Amino acid sequence: MIGLFTDDHMSFEIDRNPSSEPSLREMSEKALKLLLEETKASTDKGFFLMIEGSRIDMAAHNNDAAAHYRDIVAYQETVAFVEKFVKENPNTVMISVSDHETGGLTLGKQLDPLVYPEYLWHPQPILAAKRSVEYLTAQIFKNEKSRSRGFIVQNIINLGLGISNATNAEIDELMKAVLTRNPAVTMDILGKFVSNRSLIGWTTHGHTGVDVNLYAYGYQHLQLTGNRENTDIGHFIARVMQLDLVSITRKLRNNNETSLKPEQRENNDDKASYKRLHYHGRKSFKLE
Ligand SMILES: [Zn+2]
Repeated sequence: MIGLFTDDHMSFEIDRNPSSEPSLREMSEKALKLLLEETKASTDKGFFLMIEGSRIDMAAHNNDAAAHYRDIVAYQETVAFVEKFVKENPNTVMISVSDHETGGLTLGKQLDPLVYPEYLWHPQPILAAKRSVEYLTAQIFKNEKSRSRGFIVQNIINLGLGISNATNAEIDELMKAVLTRNPAVTMDILGKFVSNRSLIGWTTHGHTGVDVNLYAYGYQHLQLTGNRENTDIGHFIARVMQLDLVSITRKLRNNNETSLKPEQRENNDDKASYKRLHYHGRKSFKLE
């Protein structure tokens, strides 16, 4: 079974229209229900389900604190549902982990290098924002009227970001990016409106090497406590599901006629295509 709901990436949770796109929790609920039904009759077959809260990463690539928060909440609602499922099905285990951190997010950003920062952050500006900076940037670059200062202050900053106290300096900086037709910088500046008010700091538009959290609940989950290498997760899954990864991998390779030949693989791995394929976080905008 496959469910396709949008032409491209599904919307950020903050922009999602619930009547046309299901939530991560709704999709997970459906998948678990189907898998449970399919494996009920058989006592020796289990299932593996990978649920990805993929747009958390992308919001962090955009340094968009408000979109980031909403997608994290959507993920946590999904985790709560899966945890309930695991409680009702004691022979299952849930693992929650990320393959990396993105954006280098910190709380307690220093806004002025000459002023010692306060030890705090503010959640309210995040809650006030109504749209992702990606959505708002697309709105700005729709036509000439939407690029005007009046439209931007009213519809983008006031309504979209939920900010009524923007300074002239902030608006000037934004207008400069808009008038030079630079969507990437426009997105960045829109993100800063919220992040600076929340005292949320970002160090990069890419992935970082910091440790990530690992949570596990259910069957044999104590085997995953402590500080772990990422490969330990795969070994744990193989162990509890009694999988022979070596023979499964061999079988997949033998059956896969479309797998790349070594010479094709080399071409595919060149630096340029690697960068193109992996720089997935940022949208390219059609400029009118
Ligand atoms: Zn990423």
